[in-house]
Amino acid sequence: MTTSNGHPPASQQHAATRLVTAGRDTQGQRGFVNPPVFHGSTVLYPTAEDLHAHRAEFTYGRHGNPTTRALQDVLMALEGPQCAGVGLAPSGLAAISTTLLAVLKAGDHLLVCDNVYRPTRNFCNGMLTRFGIETSYFDPLIGAGIEALFKPNTRAVLLEAPGSQSFEMPDVPAIAAAAHARGAIMIDDNTWATPLYHRSLEQGVDISMQAATKYIGGHSDIMFGTISANANAWPKISEAIRLLGVCAGPDDVYLALRGVRTLSVRLAQHHRSGLEMARWLAGRPEVDRVLHPALETDPGHAIWKRDFTGASGLFSIVLKPVPQPAVDTMLNTLRLFGMGFSWGGFESLAVPFDCSDYRTATKWAPGGPTLRLHIGLESVDDLKADLDRGFAALKAPL
Ligand SMILES: *Cc1c(COP(=O)(O)O)cnc(C)c1O
Repeated sequence: MTTSNGHPPASQQHAATRLVTAGRDTQGQRGFVNPPVFHGSTVLYPTAEDLHAHRAEFTYGRHGNPTTRALQDVLMALEGPQCAGVGLAPSGLAAISTTLLAVLKAGDHLLVCDNVYRPTRNFCNGMLTRFGIETSYFDPLIGAGIEALFKPNTRAVLLEAPGSQSFEMPDVPAIAAAAHARGAIMIDDNTWATPLYHRSLEQGVDISMQAATKYIGGHSDIMFGTISANANAWPKISEAIRLLGVCAGPDDVYLALRGVRTLSVRLAQHHRSGLEMARWLAGRPEVDRVLHPALETDPGHAIWKRDFTGASGLFSIVLKPVPQPAVDTMLNTLRLFGMGFSWGGFESLAVPFDCSDYRTATKWAPGGPTLRLHIGLESVDDLKADLDRGFAALKAPL
């Protein structure tokens, strides 16, 4: 059996194949491999009757066009049969705020993992508080113990696996089971692993969102967010997207579509290089420990091995105690590791971080300066040489 684009049905293909074949309508694209970029607001209707009935494949630019449809089709194929729909948002943070506004109302209570992306926290403490929604934070390692934190009005649980700075690994299936037992919606920020390496929706997550700015885009050239939902949650997400007017520009949609085609090869390389660098760093005398769940010695390793099929190129290191100016000298010495926020592009990055002043459910006291590294697609030998130079500067007298 083949589908309209001549490819076997998505359900019979491996994810790497689906990333290549889904969302392509060769005939509709007049033979070309890729869809054109539709720039459009107005859609013209052939008759007054069609206009009255909004009868058309596409009705208005904000509600989507053939380019957005193609990206949604690939992402649905990637997520698998549990996915009932994928919403597109202009940034990862917009995907989070849209998701929370979709499932919560005044008087509700929300449980959020203490290692969550900080702007997510700012949204909860800021706008959600203003709308009469209470957020409490939980220890990422709480597992099934989260049961004790539910209140009668707890409507949703949001987590990140692992947290994108400190890399504690929550037990997603256990937390999802507790959420469902209390009728709450389970939301996962799946940016770190992507659906390629973490099958959120198969592990009890109702809404899996991603900052597609990171690995889906993959080239540090777009801001983008995606919201994948199961049949239970999709009507809420789809309604919120419509009511809020959330949409993404066609050029960014196209770049996300272009990025996703090579996701499997890029991520496999980020995984290999990231792990090699993590192992090398774990053996360095300047490094106290490496926070990377794919390392056998990591406290989250058993969960990572059970629930994930790969790792991305993002992890952190804790340095042995040195003054911050020494760390800054090290950072200023690096040539291949750029200093800047975000990650998931082809290039390596290094940023210092400190979660100690805003956590509420757990204490962050790593015992030394912390650096988050993104391992890009450069040669690991060159990256090691760059860090060697950095470590020499770290030890030099100030
Ligand atoms: C970057 C990031 C976001 C936000 O994405 P933007 O596209 O920058 O808005 C959300 N969650 C995680 C885990 C991220 O790393």
